[in-house]
Amino acid sequence: MATHKIAVIGLGKITQDQHLPVIDKSDSFELAAVVSTRGLSHGGVPSYRTPAELYAARPDIGIVAVNTPPEVRHGLAREALLAGKDVLLEKPPAATLTELADLEATAAAKGRVLFATWHSRFNPAVEAARELLAAGVRSVKIEWREDVRKWHPGQDWVWAPGGFGVFDPGINALSIFTRILPFVPFVRTADLTYPANRQTPIAAQLVFGSTDPAAPALTADFDWREQGDEKWHMTIETADGRPARLFKGGCALSVGGTVVTEAPSEEYERIYAHFADLLAARRSDVDGAPLRLVADAMLVGKRVGTDAFEW
Ligand code: NAP
Repeated sequence: MATHKIAVIGLGKITQDQHLPVIDKSDSFELAAVVSTRGLSHGGVPSYRTPAELYAARPDIGIVAVNTPPEVRHGLAREALLAGKDVLLEKPPAATLTELADLEATAAAKGRVLFATWHSRFNPAVEAARELLAAGVRSVKIEWREDVRKWHPGQDWVWAPGGFGVFDPGINALSIFTRILPFVPFVRTADLTYPANRQTPIAAQLVFGSTDPAAPALTADFDWREQGDEKWHMTIETADGRPARLFKGGCALSVGGTVVTEAPSEEYERIYAHFADLLAARRSDVDGAPLRLVADAMLVGKRVGTDAFEW
């Protein structure tokens, strides 16, 4: 398979934890440069302060991954597409629906590959759950609860407008939810809990309707105040009454109390393998469904106040 020269924009937590190690061991991608506002580098490759400097200095690099917070993703991705680059987007793919639509249109107009990644979907148990639910669903209860101080230490952007708050992890659950359901879910109600001193919610309770005439019971409980181990799971009842559980963030599925699929998390290995396939086929992969549900929760949501949050 061809080796693609790629540059990564933004050397924060997810780039350090996943993108760089996965690119380093990839046969399909070669890290050729990075863009870091702090001037960080990796593996001795050139580091540029801005994408414009990268594009001017290294026209041989045709691919970028945009791994910044979502609020600045659209501008950086648009700039990359207009410079003729193929683009991988971290999740969430943009801060608004219109920004995402613009990126899709720009990629199509420029003939570039655009891949909006949803890392939680890249687990085998998610596909097993999708097959299990193909014949119908009675209920899905999502619990996605974690400690924000453990998973986003000091990341003030999550509390700023456009930072998504608890929907930053919650959208991972919604990316699985929209993948495994055999029908379209709608947000019916959303209770959004805002700390007195913050602009994004620390918790959200959602109730969904759907296009399924059987009216399955669908709920989500997102909370950043969980202490101890994170809870990233969905409790499911199939249409024929079997209890199932998708757990460990989508890495494991049990049916009737028996684990039927469990695999170590190799989300980013699979993301880059899929990106290589998209590049070979010159095809984009952009699914806005999880972002639409978050936007809808914000549109119909009821605001609930709570104590100020300090790190
Ligand atoms: P982070 O640690 O705060 O890193 C973001 C990096 O983006 C910064 O370190 C900075 O890198 C760069 N950047 C450029 N413009 C910025 C701006 N205006 N504000 C802040 N940073 C800016 O965040 P992260 O946890 O890596 O998350 C980045 C994205 O990945 C988010 O969309 C998040 O949802 C997603 N994600 C995160 C995780 C996780 O476990 N943390 C997992 C999956 C996905 P430079 O200083 O090098 O420019």
